[in-house]
Amino acid sequence: MSTTIEGLGAHRTDRPQSPAITLTGVTKAYAGGVRALDDVSLTVLSGAFLAVMGPSGSGKSTLMHCAAGLDTPSQGSIHIEGQEIGGLNETRRTELRRERVGFVFQSYNLVPSLSVADNITLPLRLAGRAPDHEWARMLIERVGLADRMSHRPAELSGGQQQRAALVRALVTKPAVVFADEPTGALDVRSARQVLDLLRDLVDELGQTVVMVTHDPAAAARAHQTLVMADGRVVDSLSAPTASELAGRLAALGEG
Ligand code: ADP
Ligand code: MG
Repeated sequence: MSTTIEGLGAHRTDRPQSPAITLTGVTKAYAGGVRALDDVSLTVLSGAFLAVMGPSGSGKSTLMHCAAGLDTPSQGSIHIEGQEIGGLNETRRTELRRERVGFVFQSYNLVPSLSVADNITLPLRLAGRAPDHEWARMLIERVGLADRMSHRPAELSGGQQQRAALVRALVTKPAVVFADEPTGALDVRSARQVLDLLRDLVDELGQTVVMVTHDPAAAARAHQTLVMADGRVVDSLSAPTASELAGRLAALGEG
């Protein structure tokens, strides 16, 4: 099954869609015969918001790690903005990842000893790039953290930390943001705030987002949801409701 994920703005002429990420026949096999990914082909167009669901062990994290160039497939190819990452040496691949890919994790992964401001600009310093101050300020204001810039992560709530992590992921203007259970550790209200922000960034800035989630309500905020099982994409639902998704997952043995 080969799937193309379009944004809802797919037919807008002012924001033409090109592939942000393409996986072609990607298989990841481990010793002992486990196929974490089994011949996955997938195109995520720029501006699309894709959710990935599926039972534990179905290959969601492996899919994200391969798509982001953090892990190498056993077979198949991966392109980020048209560039095949398998052909790059480790240095070039690290550069591409730093500059073109943003990450948001369930556990925020902010550096405890750095201020929020320094956490946010860390990816730029690692890439040796000067900050685009206007862009950074716009993002910080957008997520409501303008008065928290000198705080340490431990002085923020979980929701505030995840919003800081979101700004950090966006500060390099990446081709795609990968979010692995970004709301998994948050209370309902903070989770909704983070999801609202993700959706606004997609709608207003054309940001491409791939989000792994167990929460049907979170996935329902995306344009499209892929359902994985045993390393394969077994379903692709366009703008499903949370209850449609919950039903589909229950049928796969995860209610
Ligand atoms: P998910 O994120 O959907 O829970 P994963 O992508 O983490 O699933 O894992 C998919 C499958 O690959 C699982 O069966 C898992 O046990 C296996 N797997 C993942 N990483 C490794 C590894 N380093 N060595 C062997 N098997 C692995
Ligand atoms: Mg996982």
